[in-house]
Amino acid sequence: MIFFNSSEKNQTTRMSIDDLIEKTKKYLPPDEDFTMLKLAYDFAAEAHADQTRFSGESYISHPLATTYNLAAMKADMPTLLAGLLHDVPEDTAVSIQEIEKNFGKEVAKLVNGITKLGRLKYRGIERYAENLRKMFIAMAKDIRVIFIKFADRLHNLQTIQYLPAEKQKRIALETLEIYAPIADRLGMGEIKHQLEDLSFAILQPAEYNWVLSLRQEPLSRQTKNLSKIKKILEENLQKEGINFISLHGRTKRIYSLYRKLLQKDRDINRIYDLIALRIIVPNIQSCYTTIGIIHSIWPPLKGRIKDYIATPKPNGYQSIHTTVFATEGQIVEFQVRTPEMHDQAEYGIAAHWHYKEKGAIKLTEKQQKWIKELINIQKKVKDSEQYLQQIKLDIFSDRIFIFTPKGDVIELPEGATPIDFAYHVHSELGNKCIGAKINEQIAALDTKLRSGDMVEIMIDKNRKKPNEDWLKIVKTKSAKDHIRQALNKDLQSRWRLKSPF
Ligand code: MN
Repeated sequence: MIFFNSSEKNQTTRMSIDDLIEKTKKYLPPDEDFTMLKLAYDFAAEAHADQTRFSGESYISHPLATTYNLAAMKADMPTLLAGLLHDVPEDTAVSIQEIEKNFGKEVAKLVNGITKLGRLKYRGIERYAENLRKMFIAMAKDIRVIFIKFADRLHNLQTIQYLPAEKQKRIALETLEIYAPIADRLGMGEIKHQLEDLSFAILQPAEYNWVLSLRQEPLSRQTKNLSKIKKILEENLQKEGINFISLHGRTKRIYSLYRKLLQKDRDINRIYDLIALRIIVPNIQSCYTTIGIIHSIWPPLKGRIKDYIATPKPNGYQSIHTTVFATEGQIVEFQVRTPEMHDQAEYGIAAHWHYKEKGAIKLTEKQQKWIKELINIQKKVKDSEQYLQQIKLDIFSDRIFIFTPKGDVIELPEGATPIDFAYHVHSELGNKCIGAKINEQIAALDTKLRSGDMVEIMIDKNRKKPNEDWLKIVKTKSAKDHIRQALNKDLQSRWRLKSPF
């Protein structure tokens, strides 16, 4: 049921328009006019004829791959056509009017939604903010606009190695700050994870590799044990007459794992869902029966049963989770859900495509309200920079990204100060810190950092210990620990010097 698996990812660079059409024929009704896909492809290929990607490939490979990503979401025909045409008005001499003449109003509107404003009227950050706002407005009218943006961004990240390093980081940061949280709000788990993992690898390569190597041993050990546990459960489910649809292990995605590790003092032994067993059963009744069967075999850990069927997450996610002491003392998480809940978890609002509901994809009231708020922010703040800050706060309120002077990116919780930043880079940088520059301006050490800030720490090489008052200022636990440790060491050494013993 996972559409964006790795083998498909590799295919995107090599497939043709015929492959795309074949793929769409598998899920669209047979009376669709599939020749339109070929027409849109030829139209876009001609418009982009003299352009190449940074990879050296012909430009059309990009809209084609974007549309392939949309087909993986089981997009409808107008969205697929818009995917093929999405870069035409922005990057070629062919106008949106010509697209409308050839492919109709609906397709033209979708393309217009992600077409950036002209370069002449707006510049720099103002242009960036205006483009975002324009896209949010289009998205409020027709949510399919953001699906095209996701598919576009996914392919851009998949081929990002050909771009200059600075541009790679800018795109990855924007993805983590804006697009992945939007995907999350819309319940689109699969696309969110892909956007996050690709961006994380670019923004924090050292941390990314740390997670990869850290999980290697427990992952292979737990995978081995899991087949036994799976077998026991299978037998018991069959005995009790539960006709499960699937029973498979899922590995926690890299960026999710990283975020959790940061909450658990970087200790992988405290992560209980590195691998989880996912059981898909026909209906809600059998979800509860299955949980009962699991608990009758293995005792559950206290406080780890989460019933998201009775109380869905705000983005619509439903399942029941439980963590048990399984065979040989291994702690295992189980996730039980119906096929509909599974599609909702992977595709969020895009899942409604799969159930062939006629008409536009419907947002929940909460989601509609949230998109309206994104647009309304602009009315309250005139300044583009403030607008962007507000947007990020609204969709991304719990974490911020800070640049080092070298352009490396560091993730900190909201409310973090330059001292948190210093200790995050290196404990000695924290201990010897005497001041900070934020965006090249001298700033107080208790200044709350904002996402996108560039921070430079000023040090005094002779400084031995941090200021005790910093304990009241810092936000992160690791900074607090380092400060305490440094102060204690200092106390101990002084005591030793003065002590007559
Ligand atoms: Mn594009």
